[in-house]
Amino acid sequence: MIIAWFSCGATSSVACKIALSLYEDVEIYYIDTGTTHDDNARFISDCEKWYGQKIIQLKSEKYSCVSDVLRKGFINSPHGAACTLELKKKVRYALEDELKEWDGQVWGFDFAPKEINRAIRFKQQHPHTKPLFPLIEKGITKSDALGMLWKAGIEIPIMYKMGYNNNNCIGCVKGGMGYWNKIRVDFPDKFNEVAAIEREIGATCLKDEHGKIYLDELDPNRGDPVQEIIPDCSLVCQIEFQEILDKQALMVLSGKLSIKDIK
Ligand code: SF4
Repeated sequence: MIIAWFSCGATSSVACKIALSLYEDVEIYYIDTGTTHDDNARFISDCEKWYGQKIIQLKSEKYSCVSDVLRKGFINSPHGAACTLELKKKVRYALEDELKEWDGQVWGFDFAPKEINRAIRFKQQHPHTKPLFPLIEKGITKSDALGMLWKAGIEIPIMYKMGYNNNNCIGCVKGGMGYWNKIRVDFPDKFNEVAAIEREIGATCLKDEHGKIYLDELDPNRGDPVQEIIPDCSLVCQIEFQEILDKQALMVLSGKLSIKDIK
């Protein structure tokens, strides 16, 4: 059995579609953080029709949404965001414990230098998952994936249309200053909710060279949401990686090495 991870993002949705054409017995899973746009329900239903099968939805049994996790007093640590650990990683670990075995796990890393680097890191750090990267194997970029959805007649998730570069949670703790200023305008209730939690727990999403920046003191003119690229949560949050491209990533990019052959 193959596990294919669907994150409601463009790349993972196409990776799942390709997985269905490459492998038999593919089960598609989506982990709901309880903090995403309502349009995700529409996108999931469109993709289910495209795939001709259900997407199995999983959710943390302990926390209902990101704010629930943040209220416990943690936002980010050197090991990653607390919300990712509680709402995504632990849910994935629970599924792995329950299933015990599988022939591969499909991930939507796409054919871009940093993504290939992350895929290599993931493979090295989590070999037990038997990861598969169909988009990298087929040289499919994020723009290609968006084009494939368009061709299939599937409207992309609304967060992309609103100008966000991924379909992460609304009010992602990994966002930069420009991102949060955009959230302030587009989703003021979410902005105010997270700002209040920050004061409650004395921790912040944002920092600069002078230290913590509470959202309620963020200068509305700081940051550029277009320049700030936050990778898809389902991908980046699952791994610890280094941004510097290693030799193997360059070889995969140039076609001299297949991602399948990386140990
Ligand atoms: S998308 Fe952002 S807010 Fe949501 S779980 Fe991942 S890191 Fe946390």
